[in-house]
Amino acid sequence: PIYLDHQATSELAPGVLDAMIPFFSDVYANPHSSEHAQGWRVSDAVERSRTQIAAAVGADSDEVIFTSGATEANNMVILGYERDEAPTLITTAIEHKSVIAPIRERARRGSRTTVLSVDGRGYIDLSALELALSSGAALVSVMAVNNEIGSAQQIAVIAELCHGAGALLHVDAAQALPFAAIDASFADFISLSAHKAGGPKGVGALIVARHARGKLSPIIFGGGQEDGLRPGTLPAPLCVGFGAACATLPDRDEVADWRNRADRLADLLRAEVTGLIRNGGGEGAHPGNVSVTLPAGDADVVIARLQPVLAVSTGSACTTGIPEASHVLRAIGLDVAAADRTIRFSVGRFTTLADIERAARLFGAAARRNT
Ligand code: PLP
Repeated sequence: PIYLDHQATSELAPGVLDAMIPFFSDVYANPHSSEHAQGWRVSDAVERSRTQIAAAVGADSDEVIFTSGATEANNMVILGYERDEAPTLITTAIEHKSVIAPIRERARRGSRTTVLSVDGRGYIDLSALELALSSGAALVSVMAVNNEIGSAQQIAVIAELCHGAGALLHVDAAQALPFAAIDASFADFISLSAHKAGGPKGVGALIVARHARGKLSPIIFGGGQEDGLRPGTLPAPLCVGFGAACATLPDRDEVADWRNRADRLADLLRAEVTGLIRNGGGEGAHPGNVSVTLPAGDADVVIARLQPVLAVSTGSACTTGIPEASHVLRAIGLDVAAADRTIRFSVGRFTTLADIERAARLFGAAARRNT
C-alpha cells in the first residue's frame, strides 16, 4: 500500500522510536518525582526534549508548555486568554476546527469575534486585518500553514500589524513544524503537534512568550505542572519522542526536494485526469500538499475505489459522521459540488518517486472509471 496522507499524520522520523523505548520500559519513573534519582533521570530527559522543541522554533525552553497536541494547545490559548473577561477575537475562515470551536465558545460567553475571509489561494487580506484591529486590542489567531490546501500566511507581517495595534498573536503551527517553517520570535502563542512532524501521537506544545504569560490562565486544574498552565503527569516517552523529532527536522535542501516530489505528483495527476485543478499552494506552502479538484465525479467514491491500496483523503476528517462540504474549500471559492470533488494528497518527507508514480497511475484509473 501507498500512504499519501502525511498531513493527517506521519510515520516516526528515524531514531524517534529508539529514543522513546527506554522510557516505556526501564526508565519509567514519574518525571515529577523530585525526591529520587530515577525521577530525576526522567525529568532530565523531558527537559532535554523541551530544549530541542524550543530550539526548533527559536523559543526559550521555559516558554514550552507540553500538551496532548495542537488541539489542546489551541483550546488553552483561546479559552484561557483573559479567561475571566470577554476579549475581542480575530481569526480566519480557514482555521482548523480546534480553533473554530473554542472561538465559537468564547463568542457564546460574550466575546466579539471577527472572521477574516481569504482569497482564492487561501490568503487573508492584510488590509482587512488592519481594519479589524482598528477597533481595539484583541487576540488574533491565524494558522501558519493550512492543513487542506497548504497555503502559508505571512506570519511576520501579520505579527507586525497585530503588535502595532496592541493585539497579541496566536499561531497554530501544527502544519508548519514538519518543514521547520515557524519562527517563535513573531508570535506570542504557538501551537505545535508532534505527530505531523515525525513525532508520536498524543503530545504537542503551546509556546507561550514570556511577556504574554500573564494573559493566560489555565483551563484545567490539578497539581500545578507546566507552570500551572497544564497540570497532569507528563507522558515522558512521548515528550522524548517529540524532542527527538524536533532535532531531526528537514533542512532547506530536503524541503526543496520534498516540494519537487509533490510537484511531480501534481504534474502526473494532471496528465492522468484532463481538467484536474490544483488548489492552494503559493509562497512557503506545505511542501507535500497536493489538493486537487476533479472535473467530474465524487471524491469519496474515487477514494473508496482506491482501497486498500492508496491512502489519500478529502483533507477534512469528518468526525461527526454528518457529511458537510469543507469550510476551507468553500472559503477559497469552491462551490459545494467542487468541494465534494476535491482530494488531498499529502506527500511525506520520505515518500519515494516510485510510490508517487504508482499512486498517480492508480488514481488516474480510479478517477476515469465510470462505475
Ligand atoms: N491544527 C491543524 C492546522 C491541524 O492540521 C491539526 C491536525 O489535525 C490540528 C490543529 C490538531 O492537532 P492534534 O492532532 O495534535 O490535536
